[in-house]
Amino acid sequence: MQTIRKRLSILFVVCSITAILLITFFVNLTINNKFNKYMIDTQNKRYERIVSYLQEVYKREGKWNENSGIELMHEAYMGSYCLTLFNSDNKVIWGMDPNAVTNRFNLEAMKIKDEGVYITQKFDIRFNNKIVGYVEIGQYSPIVLSEEDINFKTSINKSIIASGIITLIIIIAVSLYFSKQFSIPIREVANMSVYLSKGEFNTKSNINSNIEELEDLRNSVNILAEKLSYQDKLRRRLVSDISHEIRTPLNVLQNNLEAMIDGVLPVTAERMSHLNEEVIRFGRLLDNLNILKEFEAESMKLSFETAFLDELITDVYSDFCVAAEEKNIKIDYYLEPNRDYRITGDKDKLKQVFINLISNALKFTEEKGKVWINVYDNSKNIVVEVKDNGIGIKEEDLPFIFERLYRGDKSRHEIEGSGIGLTIVKNTLQLHSASIDVESEEEEGTTFRVYFNKFADV
Ligand code: ADP
Repeated sequence: MQTIRKRLSILFVVCSITAILLITFFVNLTINNKFNKYMIDTQNKRYERIVSYLQEVYKREGKWNENSGIELMHEAYMGSYCLTLFNSDNKVIWGMDPNAVTNRFNLEAMKIKDEGVYITQKFDIRFNNKIVGYVEIGQYSPIVLSEEDINFKTSINKSIIASGIITLIIIIAVSLYFSKQFSIPIREVANMSVYLSKGEFNTKSNINSNIEELEDLRNSVNILAEKLSYQDKLRRRLVSDISHEIRTPLNVLQNNLEAMIDGVLPVTAERMSHLNEEVIRFGRLLDNLNILKEFEAESMKLSFETAFLDELITDVYSDFCVAAEEKNIKIDYYLEPNRDYRITGDKDKLKQVFINLISNALKFTEEKGKVWINVYDNSKNIVVEVKDNGIGIKEEDLPFIFERLYRGDKSRHEIEGSGIGLTIVKNTLQLHSASIDVESEEEEGTTFRVYFNKFADV
């Protein structure tokens, strides 16, 4: 198995080497072709120059002798080619020995096709449109390269190789750097998932990546960790809440029954009915769990019809007026006039939603407190606001209040409840495509807002 970093680096380097080799090959090929063409042009010009020089010599001297144009021999020797001068009858006037140029000839360095094969070319020497002689130019390769030419070619090859090596070193460094940008966040996410699988949910990846997909992956794993940690807290809380709810009535029953068995407490009808109440409370807890089960199994049946929210809430408000008066709480009910409060929904279930919200507001507000019920149209939605100036909700409790069996610490100890009212509210609203939010401050009060889609939007 290889690390991502190693695999990516190898990939970069292999691709780069291939690219460099291909570039080197094509650059070399092009340069060689161009260079050879240039050399052939130069060579042809030299042939023309030799022929016209010998024509000039003939013109000056009027005939050939064994020294005519012999001074060309030196240049020919230096240029590694052989000259032979013939008269018009093809008789040699003077000529060079081809062997004399072979030792000057660096065949190895030139790497030319047909190396070592002696090639000759014969040109006419004309005067007054008459052939007066011939010159034969012979050489050991199609192109004759001087030492400078060979040096030029090798230096080009060397610089191509050198630039290839330097490029490769740069590419290796760059690939190591870039592959690190992939490998570090991926390794971090992999480590995080190991922690998560071990149940350590408080881990978080803090290394940002500027690669979109990796950043998305990192964010998703961070969200996953947060959710798992939230679920874990919730699970612990649920277990402790349920055991608390079960233990309380059981303890009361056990202590009383033991005292009765020991004869410490006389068995009276009043005591027995008190114990029966505890059993009923216990049964209520199980009933509540059953209601939750219905929601979770999504087996709840809703009968949708056109409902008038204003009428529905006015009904619930009227039902609570007496209870509020008993607790000396004032309910302020405001219904924005001339609005269309029609929605599509299950009237009974929606009534239950507002019963839960208003009963909570009364339950968690002390005597002489105040509760506001406001129903209005905010142009996007129909909003139902249930507000109180009661005990409020702790900031750390706020994210959990809609969870099953969750009860704020205070309410758990001092105020009766089951911790499922808001879960039912949220689930019912979800089935009506409505949403709910909450704002609260401890000792200041709480505001729940429910947002319904308008009738035409449903
Ligand atoms: P219950 O009221 O039976 O405890 P709910 O699901 O209705 O259960 O509410 C969950 C918790 O949310 C309550 O225990 C309480 O801590 C908090 N809560 C709900 N409504 C209010 C409110 N109006 N003011 C203060 N706390 C509230």
